[in-house]
Amino acid sequence: MTTASEPSSFVPLRAVIFDWAGTVCDFGSLAPVLALQKLFAAAGVPISMAEARGPMGRAKRDHIADVLAMPEVSLRWQAARGHLPGDADVDHLYAQFLPVQLAELRLRATLIPGVVPMISELRRRGIRIGSTTGYTRELMAELAPLAAQLGYAPDAMVTVSDVPAGRPAPWMALRCAEKLGAWPLSAVVKVGDTVADVQEGLHAGMWTVGFARCGNEVGLDEGSLSALPQPEQQRVIDAARSRLRHAGAHFVVDGPAELLSALDTLDLRRRRGDRP
Ligand SMILES: [Mg+2]
Repeated sequence: MTTASEPSSFVPLRAVIFDWAGTVCDFGSLAPVLALQKLFAAAGVPISMAEARGPMGRAKRDHIADVLAMPEVSLRWQAARGHLPGDADVDHLYAQFLPVQLAELRLRATLIPGVVPMISELRRRGIRIGSTTGYTRELMAELAPLAAQLGYAPDAMVTVSDVPAGRPAPWMALRCAEKLGAWPLSAVVKVGDTVADVQEGLHAGMWTVGFARCGNEVGLDEGSLSALPQPEQQRVIDAARSRLRHAGAHFVVDGPAELLSALDTLDLRRRRGDRP
């Protein structure tokens, strides 16, 4: 129903495009971190969780290159391996990455609480469900069927293998909108748990929502997060919220259970004529 104050061109929300790890599955986005830590440890250069997480959300080869390029990691690599890391080292690590990452994916394929009811409500509202990911097509061939068994099967999926460049470039989100037939892009929302996710959505001209509590920016599984004293939980969640907001997210919420209320607020803003 339209009202007098609505722009005549108003179109309802067409699609929501979700990231995978830390957004719909793998609470805390731990699978990519643990896989990277195992990969670097096997190369004789152990890295911390914080180092592994820094470039999260990027294509995995870019992510490995970014970690290797960190000054501290470069120096430790040189000390352990006798030379500063170069392209050949990135290639070598990336070649070994797939089996390590597959093993971690299988262990952490569980859905984040609230995903199934959130998706069914979006579908009830006539909103299509898309997904983009820094995981490669080979990794998603493993993860997507596991998620489907648990009740999450998006209408479209674009992986970093399908585009010339991963996040922060907008190509995955744009390709996904195209697959869904969802336009204008101001009627599409990109949801993710990292700064790179937010940038992908913004560069695509979409609305963006950040998930703070369940994602990479807090980086803890649900049990570990709940075990923290309440003030410490609040501190890490607030810090995550602030990083996502600083990246330019239009909305930052805890996770799937809070998305629908953010979309209701977004609907009011869109009816006023606001654009992403
Ligand atoms: Mg993620």
